[in-house]
Amino acid sequence: MFKKFQSEIDVIRAKKTICRQQQLGLFLDEQGLMRCKGRLENAKLSEGVRQPILLPQNDHLTELIIERTHKELLHNGISQTLAKTRQKFWIIHGRATVKSVLNKCVLCRRHEGGSYKMPPMSSLPSSRVTESTPNSRTDLDYFGPIYLKTSGEEKKAWIC
Ligand SMILES: [Zn+2]
Repeated sequence: MFKKFQSEIDVIRAKKTICRQQQLGLFLDEQGLMRCKGRLENAKLSEGVRQPILLPQNDHLTELIIERTHKELLHNGISQTLAKTRQKFWIIHGRATVKSVLNKCVLCRRHEGGSYKMPPMSSLPSSRVTESTPNSRTDLDYFGPIYLKTSGEEKKAWIC
């Protein structure tokens, strides 16, 4: 088991209670894994959902599990990765941990783009910022095609 939870393990073994232990209902299973006892004890769900294995926040194994789950979900987002991970594990500060791992994902970073900013917009031309009377400047607009029905036959048309 993780050395990071040694104090919790000692408390459980000494049958004392501490805040985290109370909040998560921590206990050691037969294999020595620290599990959380939620309120889904009587639900017809897998053991992982009812009693997820507790994982520490900043741990290499936790990161590997998150990475694997993220890849299984084809590089889905934080919420989906966290939800899938919680089917088996409970991670301390789960959302923040998943977010930090996903921020390191090279594929996601490549697809979401870097931190480039839009270039500064140039000044508007004087004709667009000078007050003038309506129709003092004229333009021609052209759009289409639109579809017209003439004598039961559909035809394309453009409008100027
Ligand atoms: Zn990714």
